[in-house]
Amino acid sequence: MPDKEEEATVTMEEITETMEIEEVAEQAEKEQGESPVEEVFEKEKFILPGELIGTLEEFVAKSGTFVDKGNIYSAATGIIKTNAKDRSISVTPVTKIPPHLVVGDIVIGQVTDVKDSVALVEIAGIKGKGEREIVNAEQAAIHVSNVKDAYVKELYYEFAPFDIVKAKVLDLGNMRLSTVNKDLGVMKAFCGNCRTVLKKEENKLKCPKCKRIETRKIAQDYGTGII
Ligand SMILES: [Zn+2]
Repeated sequence: MPDKEEEATVTMEEITETMEIEEVAEQAEKEQGESPVEEVFEKEKFILPGELIGTLEEFVAKSGTFVDKGNIYSAATGIIKTNAKDRSISVTPVTKIPPHLVVGDIVIGQVTDVKDSVALVEIAGIKGKGEREIVNAEQAAIHVSNVKDAYVKELYYEFAPFDIVKAKVLDLGNMRLSTVNKDLGVMKAFCGNCRTVLKKEENKLKCPKCKRIETRKIAQDYGTGII
């Protein structure tokens, strides 16, 4: 029996590496053993929606991206591709047949909206069933009663749009999620002021750039990239 903790420690970096190896292997087969990597893509990285991927000074924004105040953000879950020749940057969505979601599954997703009593989450992957696979446009919801094992005064203190969250599936009919356990909650959050990734400081989040302090229902693995 493999150690459970060890099995669960799958980072985005490891996923990226695996994907790169697969791409390289495919490409190598096509080109019969030549070393094609650097000619094909200058850079490849697995990315979630809303992540800052560059600026208009550096790149021309192409498919799978959106621009806000001169910054280029990913609009999809997928692979960033940059092209040195035309200085373009794009995100190719990962489109695979979604694995079957069941009650109790731990999912990774992005908060798309926060209302008074519910946070809406777009599911991006299922833990242990291939985090890179996407349940396309699968909208789920975290109700205010399923956020944490304590009173929630304002849901706006717990989640914000663009947050990456880890949550447990409570039911499939209404696609309700829970972040009640300490290992569940926000894994990555962006400053509401300047969009910089917030750093965990004790039980709050602080922007390293503009020093803004924000609160969230933080998962214990916040900022580690561990799914
Ligand atoms: Zn900031």
